[in-house]
Amino acid sequence: MEELRKDPTRGRWVLVRPRAKLGPDGACPYCPGAESATTEIAAYRNDGSTPNGAGWTVRVVPASDPYFRIEHELIREGVGMFDMITPRGAGELIVESPRHDDTLASMEPGQIEAVLWMYRDRLLDLKKDGQIRDILISRHHKKPGVSPHHPYSRITAIPIVFDETRRELREAREYYQYKRRCLYCDMLRQELAAEERVVKLSSAFVVLVPYAARAPLETWILPRQHGCSYEETLTPETAPDLARLLSQYFRTLAKSFGDPGYELILHNAPNLRSRILQGEWATIRDDYHWHLEVIVHPERANRVGGIFVNERPPEASAAELRQAWEGP
Ligand SMILES: [Zn+2]
Ligand SMILES: [Zn+2]
Repeated sequence: MEELRKDPTRGRWVLVRPRAKLGPDGACPYCPGAESATTEIAAYRNDGSTPNGAGWTVRVVPASDPYFRIEHELIREGVGMFDMITPRGAGELIVESPRHDDTLASMEPGQIEAVLWMYRDRLLDLKKDGQIRDILISRHHKKPGVSPHHPYSRITAIPIVFDETRRELREAREYYQYKRRCLYCDMLRQELAAEERVVKLSSAFVVLVPYAARAPLETWILPRQHGCSYEETLTPETAPDLARLLSQYFRTLAKSFGDPGYELILHNAPNLRSRILQGEWATIRDDYHWHLEVIVHPERANRVGGIFVNERPPEASAAELRQAWEGP
């Protein structure tokens, strides 16, 4: 039995499922030469190489034992006063490099750019499915309790909107209803004028430590041009720029901050094709602004009740990052 159950007291979804069966520890299934261990969903390949063989630069495969599966039939059901949905969706891994020991700090910007294009390709493809409402792309480095593994980003596509996304969308919409301006565009204007939390500025992006950073070194990367969805706004001009910034940022973390663990998350508009919620998203193209968020050592985030406690002022973190920045 696998189902999403809603806690009506908090409006929060919980996935109830049996414990995952762990595969045998052995050779890496994502290294070149092991392609037959997985079924390729997509790949960027050198000319002439064939699917499920060597010769790829970025490769997408199904996650092993995914939380959400495309094979499930989508069922929404009331159970007395409760709500249940079957976990129809998708779990995929974007294998970012053929090299097992690569990290975002060691990859060349060109390789990171290929990964960014693959994010776009997968979002476009998965969003064709109207039953998929939201897609999370996340990327961990040195997750506690997880042994080092081949570099990959994780895609989780689900039939509901993630709680975190919904909270963000609601705030953005309320701000827009009141001011008729994008919350994020306004924030960028103010941060660029104040400068103290800005880490790096490029032609298309701003790297900053947010005003209310939850943890030391929390960093957001926002496109300067307004756009609600990543896959519609990544262009041949902006992609290399973003790849270069990410490369410099992660090199900075690796070199000057002890190569800490982190979590990178793409904050993006949900699937605007999924019909049921369309009315709710009437102004989303104007009110929401996609961006990337990085939390360093997410497991160390300090909280009392729901309130984060950050013992490093965001302005100090921004100054440290600026000073240590690896790149022009
Ligand atoms: Zn490997
Ligand atoms: Zn905006």
